[in-house]
Amino acid sequence: MSESLHKRRKLIAGNWKMNTTSSRALELAGQIADSATQYLDNPLLDVALFPPAVFAERIAREVLSQVRIGVGLQNCYNEPYGAFTGEISVDMIASLKFGYCLAGHSERRTIFKESNELVAHKVHALLKSDVIPVLCIGETLDERNSGRMFEVLTAQLDAVYQSLNSHTAERIIIAYEPVWAIGTGVSASKEEAQSAHEFIRAHVGRFCDSEKVLILYGGSVTNENAFDLLSQHDIDGALVGGASLVAEKFLGIIQSADKVLSSI
Ligand code: PEP
Repeated sequence: MSESLHKRRKLIAGNWKMNTTSSRALELAGQIADSATQYLDNPLLDVALFPPAVFAERIAREVLSQVRIGVGLQNCYNEPYGAFTGEISVDMIASLKFGYCLAGHSERRTIFKESNELVAHKVHALLKSDVIPVLCIGETLDERNSGRMFEVLTAQLDAVYQSLNSHTAERIIIAYEPVWAIGTGVSASKEEAQSAHEFIRAHVGRFCDSEKVLILYGGSVTNENAFDLLSQHDIDGALVGGASLVAEKFLGIIQSADKVLSSI
């Protein structure tokens, strides 16, 4: 294994999307915290939960305050305050000390028509407020089949990176999530995922030292395929949707990351 793999951490992140209720959210966070305890001692392994925004503060305060599991939000708006009914500003997120926020998840891009430019504004606002952006990018099946995958990924990355200095750029976590693999039960193969991650790392290398950048894979990650995916050289973790709603399945993914880390 190359030296660079030793230097990068692994992050296992659970995106609960618009699921759970207040009591179930607290219960699920508690189950994950209890079952993952022994793996949280691994200093190279980070775990983060992205619950619905309305439950995030209670989870952080009542369940995870003594546990090394981060909390993030699934979305934000880039304006600092004002007449934007229903939106959550980056400063609000920062004031509650949430460490992360997703930006540009494919469901936001597709259902809510978020453009590359809007996603870039959100990422820049998060960076300014010291909240780590998890920038989600990925191609649709049609874009892949018509040979436009690299063009799409390039446009999604360039919109965000082209105005950043290298030090700032290195703080962004990228989640490569092929749209055709999200919530479908059909994950990218480890080879497909590695090849996309290698391309992304090389491209981001134009803007910063991309060996320092964490690139997560997302799209139907389960406890069964996690080890193979996480063993790939350029895959530094997973953004997990469905499987993060079941504590045992999410734990299996955390265990896989721990196992990969101990094998290198
Ligand atoms: C996601 O929500 O980002 C995701 C990858 O979902 P799933 O794991 O269910 O495919």
